[in-house]
Amino acid sequence: MSAPKHHPFEVLRPELQALSAYHVTDSKGYIKLDAMENPYAWPEEMVDRWVKRLRHAVPNRYPDPACDSLKEALRQSNQVPAGKALLLGNGSDEIIQILLMALKPGAVVMAPEPTFVMYRQIALSLGLEFVGVPLNQKDFSLDGPGFKMAIEEHQPAMIFLAYPNNPTGNLFAHSEILSILEAAPGLVVLDEAYAPYASSSFMRDLLIYEHLLVMRTLSKLGLAGLRLGFLAGSPTLINEFDKLRLPYNINCLTQMSAEFALSEPLVFERQVAQIRLDRAALDGALRALSAVEVFESEANFILVRLQGRDPTKMFMALKSRGILIKNLHPQGGFLSGCLRITVGTPLENHHFLEAFKAALDDPQ
Ligand SMILES: *Cc1c(COP(=O)(O)O)cnc(C)c1O
Repeated sequence: MSAPKHHPFEVLRPELQALSAYHVTDSKGYIKLDAMENPYAWPEEMVDRWVKRLRHAVPNRYPDPACDSLKEALRQSNQVPAGKALLLGNGSDEIIQILLMALKPGAVVMAPEPTFVMYRQIALSLGLEFVGVPLNQKDFSLDGPGFKMAIEEHQPAMIFLAYPNNPTGNLFAHSEILSILEAAPGLVVLDEAYAPYASSSFMRDLLIYEHLLVMRTLSKLGLAGLRLGFLAGSPTLINEFDKLRLPYNINCLTQMSAEFALSEPLVFERQVAQIRLDRAALDGALRALSAVEVFESEANFILVRLQGRDPTKMFMALKSRGILIKNLHPQGGFLSGCLRITVGTPLENHHFLEAFKAALDDPQ
């Protein structure tokens, strides 16, 4: 074997080396409150009917590339306005990638920060420029004037707004988002990953703004394992993005399973209602503790900031008690001191609270 003439890295884009892979903690055996999953399984008899339906799957054939019946089910369950088109993705992460691949080289992508890290990660991996605009530190609300100045200065091709925002949990003010829509020179993507848990949405606004795109996912509703997200918007725009989608990105098991799940809305409505109740209970219990600042959430998780406590020690103390949450402290900035807790079952939340209180009482 001859020695390569060049170091193999030399052919890779240099921006890749500056990135680190999205890290997922091994969670086996833990009470898993780190990833915004719905903690509830399906009723036994529903699982039986699902498995029966999957007997009709045809895995030797390529899946339906258009997914028309699944799209129809998504339109119905998400009140997508008539006349708007849908693009399906292998999770909404893939849709973010498709959206960003459509931009011109060197284009600016903008989002408030802190927010969902994939906007920055994928933009940088594609060699685009990313501009993060700080949220207000006090309550993670949008800094309207600051954001408009950043738009003016950087002329972003695409703006991402997570609504509710991850990892902060809040909904940005409706009026601030409308003025961003008015000021934006390019496209605005409202990422409504937590729509099932939120009290407000921009889906209807698709009828008003041609440059608005609304993205959702089935992951946080309770189908994270299926990997299905979608983008709703004007047919002319969606048609362009669709050219970047790999033809069979939604596999046949996901298509069948998602359609089946959407035909059982009551099961999910009950689970979501329970999680919303438990979010309120967890919020109340956390607010009763001293040394913990609790941020209001319209999602299925709650962000807290510890005062005078080491968040990484707290994270480790919970982990040693079998509970996995998300430590945001290492991200620094406004997230210093912050932990994010996904709302679990009442029993899981109880175990979390007991362990959290015990760790707070531990002399550090
Ligand atoms: C979880 C999440 C997503 C990604 O969800 P998928 O599982 O890839 O569909 C997108 N946006 C936000 C804000 C999220 O929190």
